[in-house]
Amino acid sequence: MSVTPIRLFGDPVLRTPAAPVVDFDAELRGLVGDLTETMFAAGGAGLAAPQLGVGLRVFTWFVDGEVGHLVNPDVTPVGEETEEGPEGCLSIPGFRWDCRRHLHVVATGWNMHGDPVRIEGSELLARAVQHETDHLDGVLFVDRLDAEARAAALAELEAAEWAGMAAYLPTPAPDPVVKVSPH
Ligand code: ZN
Repeated sequence: MSVTPIRLFGDPVLRTPAAPVVDFDAELRGLVGDLTETMFAAGGAGLAAPQLGVGLRVFTWFVDGEVGHLVNPDVTPVGEETEEGPEGCLSIPGFRWDCRRHLHVVATGWNMHGDPVRIEGSELLARAVQHETDHLDGVLFVDRLDAEARAAALAELEAAEWAGMAAYLPTPAPDPVVKVSPH
């Protein structure tokens, strides 16, 4: 397991639909480990395999202190409710735009051992699951903005300080300073 460079907006791998996982093997477990560790290092709420340059249908999530992963996900909205809220992407660092998502979803799939998994999520978890599943279809959240907001966002991205770079290696935040009380 290791922290792995994250591909940036503009990399074709982010626009390529990922293939279903067939082998639930050590390589898959290594991928889930890399995704989890890199997501933590980058301080993200989710990370999908294409963001590490791997074209497989796998993502990890970390919401409200809970960490998980899903292989070959199938996401279904629950009810009609949607919510517009700020969203960001580790492949588009430094930017956040409001994006409309289903408020409640159910996601089914498998864990890295091949056991069936079902996640019911609302709000942030639902948003993360929808965002990461989009990655597996080559869709980025800027695509979900309305035309005017998307045009403005793309103009801002052209001027991003990382524009033209292929990837970046997240550097974990330093451990919090532990204060020892004097005695
Ligand atoms: Zn993303």
